[in-house]
Amino acid sequence: MVPSTTVSVAVNIDGTLYGAKDARISVFDHGYLFGEGVYEVVRTYGTRIFLYPEHMRRLRASADRIALTCPVDDEVMLGRIRETLAAAALDGDAYVRILLTRGVGEIVYDPSACPSPSVVVIVKPHADPPASALADGVRLALADIVRNHPGSVDPAIKSNNLLNNALAMQQAYREGAFEALMKNHRGELCECAQSNIFFVRNGVLLTPPASAGLLVGITRAFVLDLAAGIGVPVEECVLREDDLASVDEAFITSTTREIVPVVTIGSHTIGGGRPGPVTQSLIAAFTAAIPNHLS
Ligand code: PMP
Repeated sequence: MVPSTTVSVAVNIDGTLYGAKDARISVFDHGYLFGEGVYEVVRTYGTRIFLYPEHMRRLRASADRIALTCPVDDEVMLGRIRETLAAAALDGDAYVRILLTRGVGEIVYDPSACPSPSVVVIVKPHADPPASALADGVRLALADIVRNHPGSVDPAIKSNNLLNNALAMQQAYREGAFEALMKNHRGELCECAQSNIFFVRNGVLLTPPASAGLLVGITRAFVLDLAAGIGVPVEECVLREDDLASVDEAFITSTTREIVPVVTIGSHTIGGGRPGPVTQSLIAAFTAAIPNHLS
């Protein structure tokens, strides 16, 4: 049973429910020892999960890339998520973090030391970005730290190794920025520490290609489809800091933030320093499309 004092946060570890205070993982889990694990964040609208099949597909793809197999199928995972949601007894929308780690074993890198992966589901209240972020747009820090080289820990793996992202965010916090935009090893604009980046130039929606070495966001793909649906031309292309002078609009996308307009990046003001019309149209199209993608 989840004690009533912890309701609004609930955790499922390998099929058993816990309250926030009692949720514990072994220090011998390779997720803790080596950061060996992958994860997803899904959100709900009310009790229904947005883009669930897409997130599970990416979870399995991430796991494959570190030679890890998810021990539960999508139905069982959905059941665990629903139980955890029920235990959390939230009033509003939920943030759901699904973690899959190598599991508990000897302190050696050999995957065969860990017979069973650990599967954790954390449910807590979802928080929308502040209304001012949507109305006025946000500022991004231009991170000094370079996004992981895809030949090293590939950013396409949604990995529990988040040090690269955390270090970029430390700069954003120092600078009072909402997010940190990162460049890749070639100096191209790549993605943010926790979201993907988009620009609009001359009516065309631009975003760095997967080959820039980024996490192919579920929201990114959703927004690219929405744009095509409302007749906004889309181009995945290499973008550099120099391009910031000529773009008309910018926004970021992620599961928890949907679309947030960006008006400043480092020392660059984007467009007129106000959220632009293409961004606004995509936000409206996003909101309208949500009910068609709930599980
Ligand atoms: N890039 C990074 C590094 C992220 O952490 C996230 C958040 N998951 C995203 C992009 C956006 O991905 P999604 O739209 O799937 O949430």
